[in-house]
Amino acid sequence: MTRNADFSTFSSRLHLKGNLVFQTGMRIGAEGSNAVDQPDLPVLRDALGRPYIPGSSFKGAFRSSLEAILRTLQEHPNVQDRNLACLSVGKPGKRAQDDPQPALCLTQDEVKQIKQARPDEWGRQVSGPLRDRLNSLDLSGLGSDDACRDHALYSLSCRTCRLFGSPWSASKVLIRDMPLQDADSWPVNIRDGVAIDRDAGRAADKMKYQFEALAPGAAFDFEMLIENASEADLGLLWMAIAAFERGEVPMGGARSRGLGWCALTLDWGSSKWVGAENLLDFLFTPDYHQDATVLSDKPAEWLASFQREIMRPA
Ligand SMILES: [Zn+2]
Repeated sequence: MTRNADFSTFSSRLHLKGNLVFQTGMRIGAEGSNAVDQPDLPVLRDALGRPYIPGSSFKGAFRSSLEAILRTLQEHPNVQDRNLACLSVGKPGKRAQDDPQPALCLTQDEVKQIKQARPDEWGRQVSGPLRDRLNSLDLSGLGSDDACRDHALYSLSCRTCRLFGSPWSASKVLIRDMPLQDADSWPVNIRDGVAIDRDAGRAADKMKYQFEALAPGAAFDFEMLIENASEADLGLLWMAIAAFERGEVPMGGARSRGLGWCALTLDWGSSKWVGAENLLDFLFTPDYHQDATVLSDKPAEWLASFQREIMRPA
């Protein structure tokens, strides 16, 4: 069994830092305001009034951009792994009769069955497609019932749920809230918006509103921590990092009117990689320094590892 399934043993830590810079205006909206001297839709700010992007917002955009790629990938005839990304939004309680397995890795009901029945009773007490999937697992050498359950939950989860977490598993990817650089002086513009009456195809009556948007060029600190991911997991993750680096994923509100175009730039010098091979140096060398190329050379290896894992043998 892979040791990546739990956090009891350290296997790797990737600490990425960088900047997310918006070429256009951007808006991550707070709740609407009713104050007469405020715009209707203000920008989200922290307790000190400084605009920021919540880590959860970035994670959501990051995960959905990755899932879109993976769902297309898992349909490809040369790809053997059909469990790359499920439709994870709002995990339903039960599986629909005609739901093919990859559309949803596990339902809440299936998780309950795995947890409640003893592993040696799964063949009798569990029914439907879940029984066949449990039967296909190799549980030999796992020891305790809990270890078998952990292994089953991990193995039957899709690759994305394993990495980003689900209601039954912790996330290996942590993203810090992203503060705006130069927050005290960065210009915030008030823009006018007009609601469109879609039937008439013209501006709706009395539906003019105002919203706040940061001026173009706004830069946010980016920081992501990935714990105990396998090389293949990191390859999967890197497909989304690369999409953000290429500027393919707009963020925030009012995207259809041209806001939110951004690009990620990684700072290799202040990012860090700790794996089994350099763990000792990292722990016992004061002022441990890692050459930037140690990390910048890794993504190609990770992507190759992910590709090897999911493709049919030639
Ligand atoms: Zn899933």
